[in-house]
Amino acid sequence: MQRISEQEIEAAIQNMQLGKSPGPDGLTSGYYKSLKEWLIQPLREVCNEILEGKKAPESWKEAYISLIPKSETEKTQLKNYRPISLLNVDYKIFADILAKRFKRVLMEKIHRDQAGFLPKRHLADNVRNVIDILEKLEVNINTKAVLIFVDAEKAFDNISWSFMRKNLHGMGVGQGFENGMAAIYSEQKAKLIVNNVVTEELKIEKGTRQGCPISPLLFISVLEVLLNMIRNDQQIKGVQVGAKHYKLRAFADDLVLTLQEPNTSTKKALEIIQQFGQVAGFKLNKQKTKVLGKNLTDMEKEKFQEETGLTVVKKVKYLGVYLTSKNLNLYKDNYEKCWSEIKRDLEIWSNLKLSMLGRIAVIKMNVLPRMLFLFQTLQILDKMECFKRWQKDISRFVWQGKKPRIKFKILTDAKERGGFALPDLKLYYEAAAFCWLKEWMLLENTDILDLEGFNNVFGWHAYLWYDKTKQHSAFKNHIVRKALFNVWMRYKDLLENKTPRWVSPVEAKAVKKLNMEVGWPKYWEILEQDGDKWKLQSYDKLKDKVQNWLQYYQVMELFKQDRKIGFQVDKSKLEIELLEPNTKNLSRMYNLLLKWNTQDETVKSAMIKWAQDIGHDIMFADWEQLWTTGVKFTACNALRENIMKMIYRWYMTPVKLAKIYHLPDNKCWKCKETEGTFYHLWWTCPKIKAFWEMIYNEIKKVLKCTFSKKPEAFLLGIVGQLVTKRDRTFFMYATTAARILIAKYWKTQDLPTLEEWQMKVMDYMTLAEMTGRIRDQRKETVEEEWRKFKSYLKDYYKLNEC
Ligand SMILES: [Zn+2]
Repeated sequence: MQRISEQEIEAAIQNMQLGKSPGPDGLTSGYYKSLKEWLIQPLREVCNEILEGKKAPESWKEAYISLIPKSETEKTQLKNYRPISLLNVDYKIFADILAKRFKRVLMEKIHRDQAGFLPKRHLADNVRNVIDILEKLEVNINTKAVLIFVDAEKAFDNISWSFMRKNLHGMGVGQGFENGMAAIYSEQKAKLIVNNVVTEELKIEKGTRQGCPISPLLFISVLEVLLNMIRNDQQIKGVQVGAKHYKLRAFADDLVLTLQEPNTSTKKALEIIQQFGQVAGFKLNKQKTKVLGKNLTDMEKEKFQEETGLTVVKKVKYLGVYLTSKNLNLYKDNYEKCWSEIKRDLEIWSNLKLSMLGRIAVIKMNVLPRMLFLFQTLQILDKMECFKRWQKDISRFVWQGKKPRIKFKILTDAKERGGFALPDLKLYYEAAAFCWLKEWMLLENTDILDLEGFNNVFGWHAYLWYDKTKQHSAFKNHIVRKALFNVWMRYKDLLENKTPRWVSPVEAKAVKKLNMEVGWPKYWEILEQDGDKWKLQSYDKLKDKVQNWLQYYQVMELFKQDRKIGFQVDKSKLEIELLEPNTKNLSRMYNLLLKWNTQDETVKSAMIKWAQDIGHDIMFADWEQLWTTGVKFTACNALRENIMKMIYRWYMTPVKLAKIYHLPDNKCWKCKETEGTFYHLWWTCPKIKAFWEMIYNEIKKVLKCTFSKKPEAFLLGIVGQLVTKRDRTFFMYATTAARILIAKYWKTQDLPTLEEWQMKVMDYMTLAEMTGRIRDQRKETVEEEWRKFKSYLKDYYKLNEC
């Protein structure tokens, strides 16, 4: 038995979320975090004693259960409530450690077709599998099949404990783990909290414990028993590719069976589920279980329904995706449906008085997640026109129907490069495509590859790198293959301008089999350096990696071809961001594509115009500093937005308006003499100059020091070493106040007054205090920043009184 270490306890405490309701003992996770130095040792002793077979503390066996109404429906019905368990934190620490250990066992014991709750297994793979199966059946029209979407009745609550215990033993989880589980799962008790009153104790005798990290793992380990029975039963025929039967996919209690020979297979499967249910407490709900038929006549459907008692339907919702027996409907049923809902929401939000950054935040927090879900689960887009339409809707929302003033590309660029980080949906879709393409590149997940490539005639890398779609055009007669391949071709040259290290010429040349092998040698494994050139290793060295000498010479041919464009010596960006890491592939890929996409645009044009106006270059580092740390002086969006608008020269000018509307007059609104260019209106106009002179003098009075009047400091907030670090925050607020007031009188002849400016800055002082509180700054820091301004105000009003 492996004892629990201090590191395990510490990691578990680290893992606890702050701010959750505590369990019956009232001790919060914050308590454990702050006092962990003293708590780790005693906790460790208790935990290890339990693994050795001692009883768990009484307090671990009880939970408070609070009932939360599911919606505004009938509140007298118990089923309309969701129970939330409140467990003690020390219990959760112990459970967390057991869960981590248990996951390691399950990663080996649980078949890959069961996703959910385990690392590296994704819901998207299940949907991908079902779509691929439908694609295959679309081609093999003589294969009759059904897809059964099983609905289990309250699957999590009904599993019997004695079954679970025996199952754990059978899986060989180890005595320590079994002891641990027995200790916390025997004699479970709960008290209900109803209307703020705690009830008498209740005993609980079945089901997994809600809110406990082990419970979903227990559930999948029990479910695995059922799934194994189905997998191993010869009478149940799955959709077949070579020797492989694709019989099922599971994600938590969402189970789909994909069966050939519908009637016999289904009857047998139902029989097994029923048998299993009696022992383990898992029950199939026939009314709610839905079936899609493929290649069945109406008569056959009738007969199937009669014999199995299940209903064949036209459309089902599986893991959040609408499926029919034809994948062609996927676009309409999911993408179009989702976007029309989004459009409706955007119209409603248009009525809210949001700033531009606020509207961008809406897109990021509300629109993006909904679309991302589809991008990750449905890689099926054939034409890219939809993105233009979506982008237009987004643009209309962000600009409130007015003409866009900043290029879309700049809006989408990352903040650290001066953009607004507005999500670019097309790039997100493509980034998600790469997450699927990863399988084609790595050649490891043969279950997906065999099914998705069921009628391929070449190896995957033959299509990817040697463009065999010209010889085998049917490759693209597959909704997923076509969509993915198109994305790949758009970026191929950009991402891999030399022969990539990950390409396997051996796989590309191998005879295609229905069930592919693994362990294909990649270029980086079969090349060697010869002076300053690369050459293929000798046949002797590669004997074990190629099928025979004939194939060696075929690989040699490819090598000669690839040599012409050269070999990637170091890892490519694609390899670093997509192929190697196991996490955050999507955001890594998005950022990579975004960099390519915005590379030339960025902010160059705006930067050049500013340099021309001011008459000298602004150092790139100064710009960078401005949009990384410079705008952070405040948490207020309106203030930040003003700086961004200045950088991008957002404000309309008489010159621009005259151009757009063919007006005869393009003179400045203030002096009515000179052409109203952007820089004139903001800085060189005699009237505005006088205003800035006043502000400049006032700021000098406040700060009690002198400095030069640089336009980049007053207009853009590029302060540099102009004022001391301590005075910088005030300087930013003071100049932003002036600019916001200028903008207020933008199309008029008027200018703001001194009092108006003072009032505005006073408003910001309140705002700064709030910013300070939001960011947990020390009160003294904020006070120090405004001390000089306060004493300036005092002097000013005293002077005015006398
Ligand atoms: Zn003027």
